[in-house]
Amino acid sequence: MELADEHRKLDALVGQVECVAWPGGAGAVYWAPSRSQPASFHVVVDLSRLPVKEGEPAQQDWYCDCESFQYRRRCFHVGLVVARRELERLRAGKRLSSDPGARR
Ligand SMILES: [Zn+2]
Repeated sequence: MELADEHRKLDALVGQVECVAWPGGAGAVYWAPSRSQPASFHVVVDLSRLPVKEGEPAQQDWYCDCESFQYRRRCFHVGLVVARRELERLRAGKRLSSDPGARR
């Protein structure tokens, strides 16, 4: 697969990420599409944005229900959510000097 194709595919997958809890606020729970099975989704949770018990530090920042995450603590889906958030952050910024493609 060519790099451009891969980029398009990733773009589409990032576009499918959906915030299902507190979308207008912190944004803590997301659906993220599976790379190998387009029809299936994984649940990704940003633990750092969930209220934790006082005096009880979070063991990790993310959770995903996929198999890869159980072994490696990182996975493709967490990456998609991070990318989606970054996109939204960039779109929220009205004038970014580093973004020549920004239009008014
Ligand atoms: Zn995952």
